[in-house]
Amino acid sequence: MRSFVSILVLGVLVAGSARAQTIVLSETERNHLRDKGRITMCVGPHWMPYESIDERGRHIGMAADFMDLFSLMLGVSIDLVPTKAWIESLDNVRGKTCDIMSLLNKTADRSAYLNFTDTYLNAVVVLVSRDDVVFLDGFKDLKGRTLGVIKGYVYESHIRDNYPDVRLVYVDNLQDALKRVSRGEIFAAVDSLFILTYQMQQLGLSNLIIAGQTDFSHALRVGVRKDDPVLLSAMQKAVRAIDPVQRNEILQRWFTVRFAHGTDYSILWKVLGSVALLLAFLGYRFVVQKRFNTQLQAKNTQLVHLSQTDPLTGIYNRLKVDAMLEREFERARRYERSLSVVMFDLDFFKQVNDTHGHQAGDRVLIDAAALVRDNIRTHDIFGRWGGEEFLILCPETDEQGAQQLAEHLRAKLESMGLGEIGSITASFGATQLGKTEDAKRLIGNADTALYQAKQDGRNCVRVYKPTF
Ligand code: GH3
Ligand code: MG
Ligand code: MG
Repeated sequence: MRSFVSILVLGVLVAGSARAQTIVLSETERNHLRDKGRITMCVGPHWMPYESIDERGRHIGMAADFMDLFSLMLGVSIDLVPTKAWIESLDNVRGKTCDIMSLLNKTADRSAYLNFTDTYLNAVVVLVSRDDVVFLDGFKDLKGRTLGVIKGYVYESHIRDNYPDVRLVYVDNLQDALKRVSRGEIFAAVDSLFILTYQMQQLGLSNLIIAGQTDFSHALRVGVRKDDPVLLSAMQKAVRAIDPVQRNEILQRWFTVRFAHGTDYSILWKVLGSVALLLAFLGYRFVVQKRFNTQLQAKNTQLVHLSQTDPLTGIYNRLKVDAMLEREFERARRYERSLSVVMFDLDFFKQVNDTHGHQAGDRVLIDAAALVRDNIRTHDIFGRWGGEEFLILCPETDEQGAQQLAEHLRAKLESMGLGEIGSITASFGATQLGKTEDAKRLIGNADTALYQAKQDGRNCVRVYKPTF
């Protein structure tokens, strides 16, 4: 008598209904399925836990459970056409003995005679080797070594195309590959994590480990005979309608670790252990990647900051002020809020440079900017418009408020101590956004007012008047 112990390694079972999702088929699709009466299906006969054909000729495994769902959704039976080998199944679908292939990767070769639905089952592909191998970081670590592959399987062309240095050895099936790896005849075998954990336990080979992940993964779909596009569109609807909870249930049902009583328990721990190790490695890689991403993010933030900032004074540059002006302008217009602009320009600044040198001039610009920044509201937007000219956007501020602010800043600047330079002054122009103006005009008016302040003897504030 055989009894089995099942250990779930995929976490908590998610409760869900056994009901299939309902899908809406077009009239053409419905008629087509009715006329067909049934869908004939070829499968991978030795591909557990994905699927296989059991002793009683039934389709079992993950794909079989999915096919039960599809059959319910489409309202038509999906009948197995039994085969002995994978190649035979592919031949059948080419020869039109089957309408569909239940579960396979899309390849260029297969696309010649099959259409594919979306992916409905994904799995990472891993490498198995003997336990004296330390770690394999993908196919590239197999350079010059032997890898067992099954003729016609998707790995064969992938490795041939991308890793020509790997020596491929044909094996009859995965069990054959694993036995030969165990005996040391070939270096490694490859397949999805689902399949390898299943087969390693079935065979009970105690000297095998999952040695690493590859850059390849299974993206498995339903393949539909190319000459039946209506069946494809119906099948596609079914695939897209799979309920995630049901998908999870199916995966968990089959990705269990099972072994017969009396077998060597150490194999179980080995399988679980190597999966755990692999997960630990992937986790480590994730952490490294995350750290790298954090650094990248910090760099990006830095770049954004640099692109918006005036390097000398550390306040916003013209580009940023321009962008903020657009934003504030839109907001003021939409919500009918007031918006004012204050523009100022240092007086006789050329003389500062000429008398004390350009560096002293820079110092004055830095100090003046810092002083203004410390004397405006947090909502005000302050930037360098160019040279010794600055701009302040004042949201929620009317003409009078802008004038007061400008006057306050003028007085502050005038009384700022600058060592041997003595002191400086600035001229101010202020204006409030009127009903008819656009953002450009607003700046133009502030500039006009500033010009008037210069005309009126500098070190003063002028508010824009249309009569200027
Ligand atoms: P006004 O009162 O009419 O504004 O006279 P002004 O001398 O301030 O005006 P003008 O436009 O003749 O000269 C501006 C000076 O500002 C000339 C230029 O060298 C100086 N300047 C512009 N950018 C910088 C800078 O980044 N650093 C320094 N040190 N000087 C600058
Ligand atoms: Mg000036
Ligand atoms: Mg100027």
